[in-house]
Amino acid sequence: MTNIAIIGAGFSGTLLALHLLRRCPAGCNVTLIERAVKFGRGAAYATGNPNHLLNVPAGRMSAFHDRSGDFLDWLKQQSDPCLDLPLGEHSFVPRQLFGDYVRHLLNREIKASSRDVKLKLTRGDVQGIEPAAGGVVIRLDRGRSVHADLAVLAVGNFPPESPPVDDPAFYNSNLYRSDPWASNAFSGLKSDSPVLLIGTGLTMVDATISLLDHGHKGPIYALSRRGLLPQRHVASVVTPAERVEPVPTSLVQLTQFLRREAKRAVCESADWRAVVDALRPFTGDVWAEMSMTDRARFLRHIRPWWEIHRHRMATSVADRIEAAIARGQLRLKAGRILSFHEDNGQVDVRYRLRGTDRVESLTAARVVNCSGPGCDYARISHPLIRNMLETGMVRPDALSLGLDVTRNCALKDRRGAISGRLFAVGPVTKAAFWEMTAVPDIRRQCEYLANHISSLVKGASSKGQSSTEELRREIRKVIG
Ligand SMILES: Cc1cc2nc3c(=O)[nH]c(=O)nc-3n(C[C@H](O)[C@H](O)[C@H](O)COP(=O)(O)OP(=O)(O)OC[C@H]3O[C@@H](n4cnc5c(N)ncnc54)[C@H](O)[C@@H]3O)c2cc1C
Repeated sequence: MTNIAIIGAGFSGTLLALHLLRRCPAGCNVTLIERAVKFGRGAAYATGNPNHLLNVPAGRMSAFHDRSGDFLDWLKQQSDPCLDLPLGEHSFVPRQLFGDYVRHLLNREIKASSRDVKLKLTRGDVQGIEPAAGGVVIRLDRGRSVHADLAVLAVGNFPPESPPVDDPAFYNSNLYRSDPWASNAFSGLKSDSPVLLIGTGLTMVDATISLLDHGHKGPIYALSRRGLLPQRHVASVVTPAERVEPVPTSLVQLTQFLRREAKRAVCESADWRAVVDALRPFTGDVWAEMSMTDRARFLRHIRPWWEIHRHRMATSVADRIEAAIARGQLRLKAGRILSFHEDNGQVDVRYRLRGTDRVESLTAARVVNCSGPGCDYARISHPLIRNMLETGMVRPDALSLGLDVTRNCALKDRRGAISGRLFAVGPVTKAAFWEMTAVPDIRRQCEYLANHISSLVKGASSKGQSSTEELRREIRKVIG
């Protein structure tokens, strides 16, 4: 009998569990551990605001890449009042519905689990993992523990990191919210109060939509280093003629290639979006081939541009954001925060304008950090991550994008040795794959990892020796 534990039941952990149930041999147990009340949602799909829309069209949000219409077909059977009809593959639907869909997939699997592989849902906050004879012990809150032969980290996105300032005392203030997804992010705020959102990406867009939905009338400042706003989706993307050139893997050549392709698209009366989207199936390979120097350069100089072209706003969301900018309510700023000075229930924020020595200031009644998920694991304070780093079971990757993993999603320890029993899926693995954020990327990774793990398990059990020791030997053989 092999026990597989998955830590985190957002989209990644839940989907991995579904694939493992279908692939693992009889006698396996899969335990899905989640600290939140709801399984299958994670930060992205737990929102209760129907105006928080998916930023990927419904036709591309199936949980299964070989059944592209699965989400849309499920949607068509729903009679949810939040759905704008008619529904099509280009529709942008509320994110909470995607959470309902994932939960439906999970429920269906639980009902069908007359099968020999059992799924167990366990609610708990994992605080640490320890090696144990023949496996690992997963320590949960309230002194509980789970024993497993293999464990997969699917812990997803962490709240943003607070920007470095001279005196970080303000980060303990009641005027500051470090987690834009927390239920109290905007509670108690007067509707005419000025608000500062740190960041100008899709999290800021969500936060602005939340404020507008609550009838906020006051100014909303959004400040990031470059002040770049995500581009918008368009109703239909005209695709240029098929590309013949291979995709380069050096950063300079890749940037030139993308510019050339975008220009060609425009000359053909097609859309630059098609060029960005066409790169998607190759992104992981390009990243894997790219030198470390080029990867670091990409992150430093190109990443903000890539993000705003690649992760776009749904059209109706973009309309509301652009209207808020046009009436002067949403004010985008490019600069770097220098200091916070709290006085009399407000905070004075000083920032240096990008590309100048000019220092400006603004006053806000609330500062909400919307600068995107924190992925520098050296700075993440959750006990599980601290525990694993301190015991040397895992290490952050060299570019502070997540944890160091192999292309088979195996975690590396402090010395770089590859674990035979610890794996990761989803945003945790960004360092090895770069784009491991959105559903179309994660769904393939989950399927791949489920195949990999089940072949490890089957390798051991096909010899009739499904003992943990045999599994360990089998794992060593596969990872060399
Ligand atoms: C606001 C937002 C909107 C997005 N919109 C889209 C979109 O429209 N389309 C798209 O394709 N992608 C979107 N994404 C990308 C999204 O990250 C992925 O689609 C996906 O949700 C990532 O899933 P995950 O399970 O890896 O991480 P998460 O969703 O973060 O889930 C991780 C889970 O692990 C649990 N967990 C963490 N630590 C522990 C612990 N120690 N013990 C127990 N449980 C733990 C958490 O509670 C959480 O439920 C969006 C992301 C965000 C943040």
